[in-house]
Amino acid sequence: MSDVDFDVAVVGAGPAGAVTALLLARAGRTVVLLDRGERPGSKNLSGGVLYGRVLDTVLPGWLDEAPVERTIGRNVVTLLTPTASVGLDYRDARLGEDSGAVSVLRSRLDPWLVERCEEAGAMSMPGILVDRLLTEPGTGALPTVVGVRAGEDDLRCHVVVAADGVNSFLARGIGLREAPAPAQLAVGVKAVIGLPRATLEERFGVTGRHGVAHALVGDATDQIAGGAFCYTNLDSVSVGVVLRLDDLVARGADSAGVLDHLLAHPFIADLVRGGELLEYGAHLVNEGGLGMLGRVHTDGLVVVGDAAGLTLNTGLTIRGMDLAIGSAICAARAVDEALATGDTSALGLSAYRRLLDGSFVGRDLRTFAKAPAFLERPRTYTRYAGLAADVLHEEFAVSPTPRRPLRTVALDTVRRSPVALHELAADAWAGWRAL
Ligand SMILES: Cc1cc2nc3c(=O)[nH]c(=O)nc-3n(C[C@H](O)[C@H](O)[C@H](O)COP(=O)(O)OP(=O)(O)OC[C@H]3O[C@@H](n4cnc5c(N)ncnc54)[C@H](O)[C@@H]3O)c2cc1C
Repeated sequence: MSDVDFDVAVVGAGPAGAVTALLLARAGRTVVLLDRGERPGSKNLSGGVLYGRVLDTVLPGWLDEAPVERTIGRNVVTLLTPTASVGLDYRDARLGEDSGAVSVLRSRLDPWLVERCEEAGAMSMPGILVDRLLTEPGTGALPTVVGVRAGEDDLRCHVVVAADGVNSFLARGIGLREAPAPAQLAVGVKAVIGLPRATLEERFGVTGRHGVAHALVGDATDQIAGGAFCYTNLDSVSVGVVLRLDDLVARGADSAGVLDHLLAHPFIADLVRGGELLEYGAHLVNEGGLGMLGRVHTDGLVVVGDAAGLTLNTGLTIRGMDLAIGSAICAARAVDEALATGDTSALGLSAYRRLLDGSFVGRDLRTFAKAPAFLERPRTYTRYAGLAADVLHEEFAVSPTPRRPLRTVALDTVRRSPVALHELAADAWAGWRAL
């Protein structure tokens, strides 16, 4: 192998890059972790519920040390109209006791993860924007990656790990990956709103380290395809919307305006009343599921996390951080083995794809392969909240007129609504098969 500055250069210090760097440094490899942010996490955005069991294998006991906000033992899914909400409130003592689901703020979690990398021996270099991959002519259609260029500086290494997030500019720059279609992307806009801890706990009905995750559909996004969330942190709430890019553009809406609409909705407005805006940001989100996976390695390069298209939106949960960490574990193992054999060609690194496909990441992407198409059905966002509220309204708005059985009310409501019965049945069947 030729002279190099490091065995491995990892570009991007989000969870994908940080965990890859940590594991490779632990394996005794020389690793540099580069990020354009002056401080790790400063450019990053998640809702963020971290489904954290995958971290137990990397950092046992992390939950006691990491800057985690609350453990999530209650999940509330709500359909919103402008004036009504119909919800499913799932609270379970079996949840919220361990790392299964925890709320996090990336501005706190990412620096903590990078500190763990440094402890393991990786060199962290924040504030470095990598402009492109350094390449040499290869034997196949794509060049061989031999390092990275940042400004005037070249940094040579045996393997580059592209953990540069959803835009995946590095892998796209050498033709390994294609730009996603607008239907495969969403725009996330999020605000972190500070509240005194006692006020927050009273409003959300939580105590101690326990928290709640709200997922909202319908008028929450002003009926634009997508969803909204509201997660409790220790003394703040993360409120945001995730809006499918194609629908947002088709409706000529602006994503910040949709978040304002949510914040003004009585359901949310009462929860965040009097709060102080602490953080605000927007970021793209992968929405295409398995269809976005594509190619994830070539000579001298592996692609992990969002950069490899690894996010899963099932409508009930958005998972990106745990998939990022899962891919990092697979990549670190494959890169370490390739370095051990001295073959960092696409063939030498091909174990990455095999490990990824066999891991929970690949399996979950295949299990929920139909979810993106299901979530494209517009009635989910425009019709069903009103339909559910109308049925329940007739049931609960008791008056001295003779009552009708619930089944008659429900059928009548569907008949009067713009949703045909066969469309309702088709959507229910598609949801059953997709989720
Ligand atoms: C609004 C919103 C809500 C979400 N909610 C959740 C949730 O609740 N749960 C969940 O699990 N996931 C959620 N996600 C998805 C999750 O945030 C991502 O899947 C996750 O952050 C992916 O991690 P990553 O390490 O691959 O990429 P990122 O976290 O995006 O990290 C990429 C890093 O690369 C750096 N970088 C990029 N380009 C360069 C360059 N050229 N040079 C140097 N550095 C570079 C960036 O600064 C960044 O630090 C949400 C996303 C959004 C936007």
